[in-house]
Amino acid sequence: RRALGSLGKSRAKFISAEESTGITFDDFAGQEYIKRELQEIVRILKNDEEFQDKGIYCPKGVLLHGPPGTGKTLLAKAIAGEAGLPFFAANGTDFVEMFVGVAASRVKDLFASARSFSPSIIFIDEIDAIGSKRGGPDIGGGGAEREQGLLQILTEMDGFKVSTSQVLVIGATNRLDILDPALLRKGRFDKIIRVGLPSKDGRFAILKVHARNKFFRSEEEKEALLQEIAELTEDFTGAELQNILNEAGILTARKDLDHIGREELLEALKRQKGTFETGQEDSTEIPEELKLRLAYRESAVAVLACYFPDPHCPFTETDINSIRSQPNMQYSKTPGKVFSRKSDYINSIVRACAPRVIEEEMFGVDNLCWISAKATIEASRLAEFLILQTGMTAFGKAYYRNQSDLVPNLAAKLEALRDEYMRYAVEKCSAVLREYHSAVETITDILLEKGEIKAEEIWDIYKRAPRIPQPDVNP
Ligand code: ADP
Repeated sequence: RRALGSLGKSRAKFISAEESTGITFDDFAGQEYIKRELQEIVRILKNDEEFQDKGIYCPKGVLLHGPPGTGKTLLAKAIAGEAGLPFFAANGTDFVEMFVGVAASRVKDLFASARSFSPSIIFIDEIDAIGSKRGGPDIGGGGAEREQGLLQILTEMDGFKVSTSQVLVIGATNRLDILDPALLRKGRFDKIIRVGLPSKDGRFAILKVHARNKFFRSEEEKEALLQEIAELTEDFTGAELQNILNEAGILTARKDLDHIGREELLEALKRQKGTFETGQEDSTEIPEELKLRLAYRESAVAVLACYFPDPHCPFTETDINSIRSQPNMQYSKTPGKVFSRKSDYINSIVRACAPRVIEEEMFGVDNLCWISAKATIEASRLAEFLILQTGMTAFGKAYYRNQSDLVPNLAAKLEALRDEYMRYAVEKCSAVLREYHSAVETITDILLEKGEIKAEEIWDIYKRAPRIPQPDVNP
């Protein structure tokens, strides 16, 4: 791919420009509704005039939000590729430098470059680095600098008329909650699309995309193996799934085999998980303190699982024989239709807090370690899901239909509502753990002694444990 000639390197090192990305919607799998929505934008971009005659304009800005590695950059490139437009990309973090005025001038450069090739696409990854709320806590420093940059983005987006120089600005972030509401107003990023973690079918589809250029023994075996991997990879992102297939390819080549087999895929999966796990299977190798922390974590998770049982997904056993950033508790999915009520979603947020709440309680807030790190993230992800995707909260319904412009100041409201759920979840979780403190201690002791414990024994301890009454916690 040729870089666009007239973009002098020295002038705009922070911009990467591609005349054509060569990426299409076929490269993105899962979450088909996202593609459908973006396809419409591509159609408008392509037959600009035809649509203009009918009074239909392309949105000026599209905001893709979701966890890293879920394909936001890929989607932005696919829009450019499908519409056959040049692609100008920059990263929000590159705008913020220590020199005053850099942010604003870089934003100007980016828009000027894109405009001179319009119609074109601008992609700003990690837009939260520059577009976070004004007047908020200045965590990374450079607040004034960021503010200048943000104001410049607003000016640029307000400046171009939709009907003339068509430049579509695509932003990506995993922190919708900290974005300045001004960015989300009509005529700016007024199309907000959530790019979430893929479902099981989504994971299978993504694996298939990345298996296109790989060799398997047969088409049937490939399908079966990829289905199996899709089952085993809950919470994996597209980027992680791609890594699994690449790693399996490397292992296959190393063994001098012609086809990727089950063994290579499972090994690659283990390695991918290993980026978070130590893979230590032998409990004697785990330092005592870590073992104690693990035992408390599993025990707290177990008590919460008894307190708020999930009828669709009963727990079966847990252990402290491997160190993972997420609880070791095992579950068995029961067959049948799942129907979750609002309270089920809220209870799952409370359950997710357990590793963090118990570690803070037992070891102190300044003495947390990474085995509870994912808990807070998971809990706030669940809260965000409830608010944005289920239509069960105050403004969920409007957002659910993807009419985000019906919800002014969406980011601020989301943040407030999510904080409320999180506050309740943490308080409720602490109350349950205090009430059942004796059960927590007993399960912890058993885990330390035997390394593992089964659901039956957990239930038995939970039911028989003396309880310490706690004041009510209300949602
Ligand atoms: P993000 O911008 O959300 O952090 P990327 O677009 O950079 O994620 O994803 C990294 C890579 O992971 C992509 O280039 C692609 O190969 C793969 N990937 C992620 N999500 C998907 C998906 N839904 N379908 C196919 N590939 C994906």
